[in-house]
Amino acid sequence: MTNHAPNRSPTQPASPDEALEAALAQAAELLQRARYCIALTGAGISAESGIPTYRGKDGLWTKTGEPPLNQYQRFLADPTAYWETQRQRRENPDELFATLREAVPNDGHFSLAELERLGILQHTITQNIDNLHRLAGSERLTEIHGNSHYTRCLACNARAPFDEIPEALPPRCEDCGGLLKSDTVMFGEPIPRDRLAACFHEAEQADCLLLAGTTAVVTPAADFAWDIYRRGHPLIEINPEPTVISDHCTVTIRAPAGEALPRIVDQLKRSAARSHDS
Ligand SMILES: [Zn+2]
Repeated sequence: MTNHAPNRSPTQPASPDEALEAALAQAAELLQRARYCIALTGAGISAESGIPTYRGKDGLWTKTGEPPLNQYQRFLADPTAYWETQRQRRENPDELFATLREAVPNDGHFSLAELERLGILQHTITQNIDNLHRLAGSERLTEIHGNSHYTRCLACNARAPFDEIPEALPPRCEDCGGLLKSDTVMFGEPIPRDRLAACFHEAEQADCLLLAGTTAVVTPAADFAWDIYRRGHPLIEINPEPTVISDHCTVTIRAPAGEALPRIVDQLKRSAARSHDS
């Protein structure tokens, strides 16, 4: 396929790059037209920062086995044992732990933060727990599965970043003395109500959804996508691979988020400059 004709007739299909360019332009237009666009991100965007995904061929759980389904109940039964294990992992970090601590945001994360600053993106809901959206500068953010760099008080729900694990275990909330766990939502643990309410609130207002690096199969995040779709609003998907929701998307962009999103930001900035000039 090295020999492509220079004078392609209009009836011939566009080349993959032309198709990608057209999809990016269409996405930029939808974003510009939306009154309240939100983003939903998943493991794919973190994978571009070197964080392994859980499921799939090279997935973490495929190698190490899935965590126990009653992980949360085990934590409640013996929180000190949990925190002891966490301390040991910090002292002798395994490969995964080191990767999670050292990962940095990629251009996909930075572009979402920029779309927020430009007033084009109103909110980001992420299924990722790795803190990368915050590091990239996203402020209107709901981490539906929590954030592994934060603790959460089980009594008053206060969240705080933590670097060191205190001497006395289990750690207690400075405000109310309640038990602290990692903010990351464990298997068997309900999603904190405030987070879920924030997601519902955002999804209800949304008239456009940008899906980046999510397969849209894990509920409840997937439910928000379907809800926005059923209300007749456009869905923009950025994912190198097709997903269950692809056929329902107004635009599908078959590229990594770190490649597609900066190009969309460029398009939006160019068109803003043009409308400013005219
Ligand atoms: Zn508390």
